[in-house]
Amino acid sequence: MFNKILIEKGLQDNPYAKNILKHFKKTPLSEIDDYTDFFGPIKKPYLQKRDNLNLFLASKKGALLKEAPDAYGLSGEPHYYYVHAYNCIYECSYCYLQGYFNSPDLVLFVNHDEILKSIEEKIIEHSKVSDTGIWFHAGEFSDSLALSHITGELSKYFELFKKYPNAYLEFRTKSANIRELIKQQALPNVITSFSLSPEQRVLDHDYKTPPLKARLRAISKVVEKSHPIGIHLDPIIYTEDLIESYGQLLDELNRVIPLDKIEYISVGVVRFTKDVYNQVKMNYPESEYFHSELIRGHDGKIKYPRPMRHWILNQVRHLCLERGAREESVYLCMED
Ligand code: SF4
Repeated sequence: MFNKILIEKGLQDNPYAKNILKHFKKTPLSEIDDYTDFFGPIKKPYLQKRDNLNLFLASKKGALLKEAPDAYGLSGEPHYYYVHAYNCIYECSYCYLQGYFNSPDLVLFVNHDEILKSIEEKIIEHSKVSDTGIWFHAGEFSDSLALSHITGELSKYFELFKKYPNAYLEFRTKSANIRELIKQQALPNVITSFSLSPEQRVLDHDYKTPPLKARLRAISKVVEKSHPIGIHLDPIIYTEDLIESYGQLLDELNRVIPLDKIEYISVGVVRFTKDVYNQVKMNYPESEYFHSELIRGHDGKIKYPRPMRHWILNQVRHLCLERGAREESVYLCMED
């Protein structure tokens, strides 16, 4: 999977790093001072991830928690994300990471104990000033379950959130890799959220990710073990069969888990920052994004014109509601 592994000095004895290295005994390993000396100073083209991918094992420095942008989750409660990794083994054509980092190499941060400590401090600080819940999200810069069988941190996060039922944790994923997850005792405040698109959209845009059917099977197993589920219908890419294809997707999902049992369903339309848009144009010039009109919005994002975005969001929301989703559980993502 990786050409070489570069590990920061002092991490050879870190339990998470040791666990990861066990899975790559034959991959050349070197020691480095700081991953930032190698990750990003020189641009490495995004598509090199297909055949020249390196793995960095590093400590996340600086702020370990960041406030999540507006409309990141259900409103009314604070949302934070923590960073457990940079980049991803999958290759979605709309992925914003291609314009965000200078390199597609994967960085796995292994100082989970420090990340957990920051989360706990934030929960305690919040509980002193408010009775509302507080949310933490994994997966802002990577997929949160795709490599969970080798990174080995899930049990520690479950342990922490078991102590704080008013704090919520979300694992976001496009993977079907739930083997570590279903070993954990389900908690009502630890939610696994799957990003889903109609089958043909997955084939056209979510390269190397598990097919829709595999994700639905994974959801079914996670539901069987009573873990709460969230769904992200995001990013929606306009096609002429949008209503039919999302209707069919929601019917299939409804057979796996009744929509009213889903904690939340986010609905969002494809959008790009300028840098990501330029990368997408270069990396996927034939993509169907360029078949529709795209404009630059007030927030600087390149997206469908407002009436079209609203039409798409409302249609998909309606499809969810008519299949039984609770009104308050469906939210529109990253939209004013
Ligand atoms: S799964 Fe998410 S992080 Fe990974 S390539 Fe796709 S969009 Fe990017």
